[in-house]
Amino acid sequence: MKNWDVIVIGGGIIGLSLAIELRKKGASVLVVERGEPGREASSAAGGMLVDCLFETPGALQPLATVSARMYPEFVRELEVESHMKVDLRDQGTILLLSSKHIRHPELQAAALYPAELSELEPAMVKLTLDQKFDLNESSLDPEEIAMAPDATHPTFHYIKERSVDPRALTAAALKAAKHHDVDFSSADPVTAVNQADGRVVGVTTTKTSFQAPKVINCAGAWSGQIAPHAFPTRPVKGQMLCLIAPSRTLLKHVIRAPQVYLIPRSDGRIIVGTTVEEAGFDKRTDVGTIQRLHRAAVALVPELRNAKILEDWAGLRPGTPDCLPILGPTATPGYYVATGHFRDGILLAPITAQVMAEVITDASCKYDLNPFSPARFAN
Ligand SMILES: Cc1cc2nc3c(=O)[nH]c(=O)nc-3n(C[C@H](O)[C@H](O)[C@H](O)COP(=O)(O)OP(=O)(O)OC[C@H]3O[C@@H](n4cnc5c(N)ncnc54)[C@H](O)[C@@H]3O)c2cc1C
Repeated sequence: MKNWDVIVIGGGIIGLSLAIELRKKGASVLVVERGEPGREASSAAGGMLVDCLFETPGALQPLATVSARMYPEFVRELEVESHMKVDLRDQGTILLLSSKHIRHPELQAAALYPAELSELEPAMVKLTLDQKFDLNESSLDPEEIAMAPDATHPTFHYIKERSVDPRALTAAALKAAKHHDVDFSSADPVTAVNQADGRVVGVTTTKTSFQAPKVINCAGAWSGQIAPHAFPTRPVKGQMLCLIAPSRTLLKHVIRAPQVYLIPRSDGRIIVGTTVEEAGFDKRTDVGTIQRLHRAAVALVPELRNAKILEDWAGLRPGTPDCLPILGPTATPGYYVATGHFRDGILLAPITAQVMAEVITDASCKYDLNPFSPARFAN
């Protein structure tokens, strides 16, 4: 029977990027996937690479910053190895502030005045904080407006930030992994991680078993379902809508408001997100919710009223009790975990792959992974 150095459970962006990194370090790798690789959260995501201070949990900031910096090279390598385009965009983000952000000193410097906003993104509705902001049910809370230091201060801020098309990214990562001779087993869930003499020896699936001295759980929202460790991951549903803009150049920047975000792709699609719902493993969309997202998008960019609706979908983010990922070795020798990336798994894929490949192959890592240790949930 064939043996691998490492078995990766789950072929989302985390499992795929890690598999590639492990192959670069000379390990033989098998990815075991329940369905088809890349079809869950990683394809459902918006693809904003958000690493700014006021939106990222403090403990995650060092990894988020490094990962955001790694992105151009990460994408370049995937594009070269897959011969596919991934649509990494660096036009930046226009941020409409909520009350929790409004006092942040870094943002004061990034404030946009109406004329600047019109120049940057002419299609956007022209607003200042002393105007009523009509987003129907998604309206900006009047209290938030009252929080503004000065009633005429602009609500919009420009931040440097990239975005990527997660479906294209995941498809490219799958192709690149195959290019690196990563092996795959699809349509067969892992049910348990096997041990002998207190060490990992492989995995059992519904159809067979595979052998390896090291196994890493990258099963996203489902990570907690695989024995022997019940990692406290849970699905956090997000519904999304895709519009076709009337012109490819309608929007240049990502626009992020408290109740909705718009992410333009280079081919003229505009992704509208999202919800954050505790709905178990239910991936159905809801007509009322999708309509509300559409109305909120139109309130920001009126020309989207006549945009064609291409599709809607929902995905399941891997949430954790403290909203931080779970990264590192487990209490079982040879068994590792990289999951719980919640709203930032696309952003964090490059750094997760790098640090976990180091931990698995060299048992070392230059970053402090203590805040992410699975041991924090041991009791
Ligand atoms: C609506 C939405 C919007 C988002 N927007 C952003 C964003 O803008 N920026 C950002 O950085 N992140 C975003 N995210 C978060 C990001 O998508 C996730 O954090 C990331 O995709 C997690 O990747 P993953 O590989 O861990 O999980 P997944 O992509 O879910 O992959 C896990 C894989 O494991 C497989 N699996 C499960 N159980 C088993 C088993 N027993 N055996 C074998 N395989 C198994 C699954 O089938 C799946 O393919 C968003 C997520 C959603 C849902």
